[in-house]
Amino acid sequence: MAGQPILVLPEGAQRLLGRDAQRSNIAVAKAIANAIRTTLGPKGMDKMLVDDLGDIVITNDGATILEEMTVEHPAGKMMVEVAKTQDEEVGDGTTTAVVLAGELLKNAEDLLEKKIHPSVIIRGYGMASAKALEFLREKSADVSFDDDKLLKQMAMVAMTGKGAQRAGDHFAGIAVQAVKQVADRSKGSVSIDSDYIKIEKKQGGDLIDTELINGIVIDKERVHSGMPKKVENAKVALLDSALEVKNTETDAEIRITAPDQLQAFLAQEENMLKEMVDDIQKSGANVLFCQKGIDDMAQHFLSKAGILAVRRVKKSDMEKLSRATGATIVTRIQDLSAGDLGDAGLVEERKIAGEDMVFVEKCRDPKAVTILVRGGTEHVVDEAERALTDAIGVISSALEDKKVVVGGGSIEIELALALNNYAKTVGGREQLAISSFASALEIIPRTLAESAGMDSIDTLVELRAKHEKGDKFAGVDVMGGKVSDMEKIHVFEPAKIKKQAITSASEATEMILRIDDIIASSGKGSNTPPEMPPGGGMGGGMPGMM
Ligand code: ADP
Ligand code: MG
Repeated sequence: MAGQPILVLPEGAQRLLGRDAQRSNIAVAKAIANAIRTTLGPKGMDKMLVDDLGDIVITNDGATILEEMTVEHPAGKMMVEVAKTQDEEVGDGTTTAVVLAGELLKNAEDLLEKKIHPSVIIRGYGMASAKALEFLREKSADVSFDDDKLLKQMAMVAMTGKGAQRAGDHFAGIAVQAVKQVADRSKGSVSIDSDYIKIEKKQGGDLIDTELINGIVIDKERVHSGMPKKVENAKVALLDSALEVKNTETDAEIRITAPDQLQAFLAQEENMLKEMVDDIQKSGANVLFCQKGIDDMAQHFLSKAGILAVRRVKKSDMEKLSRATGATIVTRIQDLSAGDLGDAGLVEERKIAGEDMVFVEKCRDPKAVTILVRGGTEHVVDEAERALTDAIGVISSALEDKKVVVGGGSIEIELALALNNYAKTVGGREQLAISSFASALEIIPRTLAESAGMDSIDTLVELRAKHEKGDKFAGVDVMGGKVSDMEKIHVFEPAKIKKQAITSASEATEMILRIDDIIASSGKGSNTPPEMPPGGGMGGGMPGMM
């Protein structure tokens, strides 16, 4: 066997081993973190993303940026995963998570250079992240369900720096109301499904015109102009089958030999439709939302019966309508009874920015609501939606987890200090890794200071000194360009943001550090990892991104 290499890889496959593999992965992960680092915080910059079709997105939102950048490198994809997880789990803190992961890897690289084995780094990082979560818990305060003021402040913090900041106070109020309205509270625990907060965007008007509807807005018009435009004290029926007689299940053929037979056939069809509409009317419904089609003849009968009907409503909207009005979605019209109907104080078709929409509103304690977002241009409403989503995310996280921390980099400095003290008790080579983890956390205040044009080294020195003296809320006041008490200026964030950011950043770091072999098949063209220069991890449709 000796001397003769055994080929186990297909021809053309590329391979990077050991330190080279690590170096390549870390370089790419760092490049990604660097690309979005400047967006952190209220003074963070925006990115303009241009896709291959020339469509433009301008945003400050980490998750959106990473989603739009077509990242090809496997280590880059892991970083994108960090952002996605953060976004799904908490709905905010994506930039923080990715920047933290990048810094953990950067510090790990320094340790690797010092010939510290990856497994030691992984162990040290693991100890540090577990301890960091413990300290985080200790350093967070309680949030009560009724503390609207605090919830609003958290929403404002989540939205600062996003395009919608001008209407921040208005948006924060709407987001708090919306989340609390759909919250499920049972046995002391709170759970929120933000899918039940429908965000409907309509370009035109001003951000300030954005409103919360206690019910659902459907972007459709009523099917027949003879139907009422406005129904008060509505009894709402939800139907998920078609109001048609066509039977698509069986393949029947009808032979008609004489003209009167055709007449009879049509009359019969008309009768069936009439009966269906009669069934709806008998149930007491005066509004109908149908997930499928409504036959022209049925539309006519509905209109004569004074029923406001909308057809081809999206399934997701049907579910929201059901949650908002309390109606049951029915499949067989014959089964529809008064008990299936939902209530709405008002169902009305109104023109918004020149388009007809049906408002189902004034619902009593609806478990689904709509935020109708208005704004001058498409970019403005899109960015407003992202800001609202972040606000909804933080309010939900704060209510579910019931814990809050003080932001502006102050919690990160606190954690770093506590971890450094902990490292001393551990000793050995792991101590080095734990200290590296601690200093990685300082990337957050450092970046915030940079974004505010402050000297980042001086700021960190000042912050450390203040925290050592027990000034535990000292942080980077980016608006004032100085170190301030962040509690006094109300920079609050849900503890869950930090918890998730620390967890997913350390998991991704560990995963990347464990890799010592990259094998790329040749089939992928020129974008396979080994051929890319360090930091050139982003292939695809983002010309001039960085
Ligand atoms: P992410 O995607 O991580 O949420 P953001 O751009 O929203 O990124 O920035 C969040 C960071 O900005 C947090 O560390 C938060 O504490 C900080 N921050 C928010 N508002 C302020 C403020 N007024 N002063 C200082 N820091 C702030
Ligand atoms: Mg944020």
